[in-house]
Amino acid sequence: MKVLGVDIGGTFVKIILKDGDSVVKEKIAISEDVKEKGKFEKFMLDTILKYSPQKVGIAVAGLVNKEGVITNSPNLRYIEGINLKVYLQNYLNIPVFVGNDANFAAYGEYIYGNGKGSKILICLTLGTGLGGGTVIDGRIVEGVSGSAMEIGHMIIEKGGKLCNCGRRGCLEAYVSSYGLERIYREISGEDFSSFDIIKLAKEGDIKALNSFDIFIDYLSVGVMNIAHIFNPDKVLLSGGIVENYPQLLPKLRKIVKRITFPLPAKDLTIDSGLLGSWSGSYGALAVAENHSS
Ligand SMILES: [Zn+2]
Repeated sequence: MKVLGVDIGGTFVKIILKDGDSVVKEKIAISEDVKEKGKFEKFMLDTILKYSPQKVGIAVAGLVNKEGVITNSPNLRYIEGINLKVYLQNYLNIPVFVGNDANFAAYGEYIYGNGKGSKILICLTLGTGLGGGTVIDGRIVEGVSGSAMEIGHMIIEKGGKLCNCGRRGCLEAYVSSYGLERIYREISGEDFSSFDIIKLAKEGDIKALNSFDIFIDYLSVGVMNIAHIFNPDKVLLSGGIVENYPQLLPKLRKIVKRITFPLPAKDLTIDSGLLGSWSGSYGALAVAENHSS
């Protein structure tokens, strides 16, 4: 059976086509002229038609309700309000699954990545924002409305720093690329990209290392909260910051172990994801493969 996993990003649509044992990956640029309602749906239809799949899963950076409507996507405004599931099913006449990219990414790690065999798996994606997804006993935790696990917007500092969501003190306001950049700016008075701060930290720059200490402190509290609520066996971190600065992992493990109740800490493994920037596509593929409409 030909199954397609699609991840819609800011500039690319990332596709994995699985046909038996053969797996093909492709990145397709989203041109500016299709970035509007109506045109984007047609673009997705044409893109998918080329592969003639029998099932399709689609991961989107946003909130997707149970009917398939993308209700909220702060970084891809032109997909807000559209129902890709219904639109594509009408034209393709095949099962289409649309869901949140962080949830699908967690499922991708569960089926194809570093979360195989995990009973309670939590995945955090540290990038521009902080995304979260959970898989318990092989099922994605979606919540009643499909919006569960907005881990990045748990408030860990009441009245704290401003988050991109408009609230103050969210975990994301500290543990994200813009969070790291702000921390560094407050320490050094200088503006650097998270990419450069990582480079400086690797070179031993004391201000960059101090910035990471603060970053890791907040992340530790976030992981501790997750451990206290879910008692998971695995927390996986992925995204550009972790991929480029894996040095943060040993420190994080040490602090989490120190501040978390011993019982949940004992059975918790903190590690990095395996699928990198393809986790959303793998997750979409896995959802389509393992679910019936
Ligand atoms: Zn927030």
